[in-house]
Amino acid sequence: MTAKPERVRMPERPPAERIRDFEEVPLGLTPELARREAARCLQCPTAPCSAGCPVEIDIPGFIRLLREKREEEAIALIRRTNSLPAVCGRVCPQEDQCERHCVLGIKGEPVAIGALERYLSKREPESSPQPEPVRRGEPVAVVGSGPAGLTAAADLARMGFAVTVFEALHAPGGVMAYGIPAFRLPRSILEGEVARLAEMGVRFEYDTVIGATFSLDDLRDRGYRAFFIGSGAGLPRFMGIPGENLVGVYSANEYLTRVNLMGARHFPDWATPVSRGRRVIVVGGGNVAMDSARTALRLGAEEVTVVYRRSRREMPARHEEIVHAEQEGVVFHLLALPLSYRPDADGRVAVAQCQRMELGEPDASGRRSPVPIPGSEFEVACDTVIVAVGNSPNPLIPSREPGLETGRRGNLEVDPETGATSLPGVFAGGDIATGAATVIEAMGAGKRAARGIAAYLAD
Ligand code: FAD
Ligand code: SF4
Ligand code: SF4
Repeated sequence: MTAKPERVRMPERPPAERIRDFEEVPLGLTPELARREAARCLQCPTAPCSAGCPVEIDIPGFIRLLREKREEEAIALIRRTNSLPAVCGRVCPQEDQCERHCVLGIKGEPVAIGALERYLSKREPESSPQPEPVRRGEPVAVVGSGPAGLTAAADLARMGFAVTVFEALHAPGGVMAYGIPAFRLPRSILEGEVARLAEMGVRFEYDTVIGATFSLDDLRDRGYRAFFIGSGAGLPRFMGIPGENLVGVYSANEYLTRVNLMGARHFPDWATPVSRGRRVIVVGGGNVAMDSARTALRLGAEEVTVVYRRSRREMPARHEEIVHAEQEGVVFHLLALPLSYRPDADGRVAVAQCQRMELGEPDASGRRSPVPIPGSEFEVACDTVIVAVGNSPNPLIPSREPGLETGRRGNLEVDPETGATSLPGVFAGGDIATGAATVIEAMGAGKRAARGIAAYLAD
């Protein structure tokens, strides 16, 4: 019996080299590797993999075109439903989405769908003459330029609507710009995807905070007939323990925004500074914690320790990110929780007092809950702490628009099929509705809401 071909591995830069800069870590597939991986696909007629893709990509279709060396047609097929393939190929949690549904995963390893999508995203789609979209009169306002807003904007523009994206920050992308570091998502990739939207006629207004600079009523007065709110979950959570307000303790949001968006790693050439800690503690076990830890290493930290209250099995970060952090030298204190921080004589954080935990019964999330072990306290010396224990929905718009119904966690309540909120003409999706989730889930929500808006305006 001939052995089944193995899933190809994406080449990566060696850890010792990559922790010295912010260049991308995985190098992408070569044409030879991409074709070899594409050849593993069974071309299942029912396409179970596509059912796991929130933006509905025809996965067997694009893999078949890739196999036939029709790469321009393959990327054109992907772009028909996914306006950010270069992003998704890099940061999508494929193992929980498309690849989880791949039949090859039942007995072996699924097709590397994300890596193939990333490979094709370098190609320009074939320029077959496309019919001009029918121009429609009603302008639509999109609030927020994260993956939810950009996807809604792209789909609405394709349908012929005049779309303006209002963004509070000075640059587009949401978390893709201020949160996910360049060594996972190079900025040129994001800029390229946003430029495509501008070419499609989407307008961008930056430094514009809806709910402060303009209300939704102001936008109605400017002629907007429908709204998509994709304002995300940018409100950092803290643990509420003593010492969290000491100098040197950051929320991961602030730390990453300083580095990624405000150029702090180039300080003093750029105006924004950031602590270049020698001994850095990162609290949390998700992607945000891994990004913070790996960023601190690249800023020159000698020791970066992740403190997480459950075991490795329960860590919410992508497996790939945990492995990359380990390879780069991040130390993990698992089953441990900070109880308080103490300052040095100058008022800067100097010691984290922690406690060991053991796993008890499963909690509401289905994961075994951490239970403190009495008398197990220990101390870790530090000069910087980055708190990455979660984010809540951005409260500004819900608080300024009292007609918008909110849920228990401050999220906007929406119809899951259309994104409709409790206010007529106002739709929402992404992290503002679900709480902190993923890029692809936010994109799926933007897509559904674009259809919902089109149906609303057609009535
Ligand atoms: P966001 O991306 O948060 O975008 C919201 C935008 O709205 C922002 O640009 C914000 O400035 C703007 N805004 C907010 N309020 C207003 C207002 N009032 N007026 C105008 N604009 C406003 N997901 C993955 O799938 N894979 C990963 O590897 C991954 N890594 C992550 C790493 C980090 C550090 C973080 C923080 C998150 C990560 N995520 C990852 C989660 C993912 O990035 C988010 O789920 C996703 O970006 C949510 O998209 P969104 O469009 O809903 O909101
Ligand atoms: Fe898979 Fe994400 Fe690509 Fe969809 S967009 S096919 S879920 S990698
Ligand atoms: Fe190919 Fe896997 Fe999709 Fe089947 S389920 S078509 S093998 S990618």
